[in-house]
Amino acid sequence: MVCGRFAPSPSGRMHLGNLWSCLLAWLSARSAGGRMVLRLEDLDTDRCRSEYCDQVMRDLEWLGLDWDNEPVYQSRRTEIYAEYFYQLEQQGLIYPCYCTRAERLAASAPHRSDGITVYGGRCRHLSEQERRSLSAARRPAWRVAVPAEEYSFEDLCQGRYTEWLDRDCGDFILRRSDGVYAYQLAVVVDDALMGVTQVVRGRDLLDSTPRQLWLCKTLGFDAPEHAHVPLLLAPDGRRLAKRDRDQELGQLQQQYTAPELVGRLAHLAGLIPEYGPITPTQLIPLFHWNKIPKEDLVARL
Ligand code: GLU
Ligand code: ZN
Repeated sequence: MVCGRFAPSPSGRMHLGNLWSCLLAWLSARSAGGRMVLRLEDLDTDRCRSEYCDQVMRDLEWLGLDWDNEPVYQSRRTEIYAEYFYQLEQQGLIYPCYCTRAERLAASAPHRSDGITVYGGRCRHLSEQERRSLSAARRPAWRVAVPAEEYSFEDLCQGRYTEWLDRDCGDFILRRSDGVYAYQLAVVVDDALMGVTQVVRGRDLLDSTPRQLWLCKTLGFDAPEHAHVPLLLAPDGRRLAKRDRDQELGQLQQQYTAPELVGRLAHLAGLIPEYGPITPTQLIPLFHWNKIPKEDLVARL
């Protein structure tokens, strides 16, 4: 049975882009007769607050999106992440990285097309002595050593996507120097333990997927399938972000009822030919992945 998920980061009010991916994730799971689970990705305690978690749930409910089971909070699962981090450590895959941000940038391989730099592997082969002297000065972050392997998968929305783990991704951080486990580890562990079989999310996370699939395999989990949906853009072509106040749900609720807003999103998604109020439940029989656009869209509501 299909099990989809919502995985919002409760760092503020949801904006149109979040609602868009949540609606499509829900439709994909429900149209397959599947379940839907909710996980609040509140690992970053500097940015996430518990009132935002409550707000996210009220906002999903307002829109007409429901989920099965109790919501899962990442901030309460540190011991679980520690266990899987330890498994990777036992496999000899984890090493401390003492680089400062400036050192990382200077020593990194060329930028990828999205501007992200690939870690050059400076700390991968330090001698014990070098580690000892560096650790006196600084608390390390913890990286996982990726193999020089090509990773490829078939995305339900974007088609085939391929990446070289060493060249395009590089050794990535699984635990920050302040002890917080990284999103990349938490997402893989949680999706597996929560029984998620289908990950629907924004296209901005497409290039995280090869490393997540590799972690998944390395930890012995079954891989979920993926669908990376296009991003919604502001009229000037920028990505919608939490700072675009006018696209926040609080603002949108003053202009639209929930069925009106869902109708506009459904029209953008190519599920209905004309604007008109509609509920998520009414959209279930209309949903199909071959209708969903692949390119980013300007959100003119
Ligand atoms: N929490 C992430 C976000 O809100 C989504 C992570 C995921 O879907 O894997 O951007
Ligand atoms: Zn380093």
